[in-house]
Amino acid sequence: MANPKKKHSPARRDSRRAQNWKLVMGTLSKCPQCGATVKPHHVCPACGYYRGELIVAPKVKKKKEGK
Ligand SMILES: [Zn+2]
Repeated sequence: MANPKKKHSPARRDSRRAQNWKLVMGTLSKCPQCGATVKPHHVCPACGYYRGELIVAPKVKKKKEGK
């Protein structure tokens, strides 16, 4: 079996691990109801519609009054 002859330095190990560090933007599609960007196969967070049906009633933003 192929075996490493020497231990790699921490800098070499860290630079190897640093190369796969890209943040990937997931796939997004448009809601046909309101036009907001939504994850595919998910209920629209803006209007609560999925495949032309109202699934979840959209949240009404309430301003928090003073405690
Ligand atoms: Zn929508």
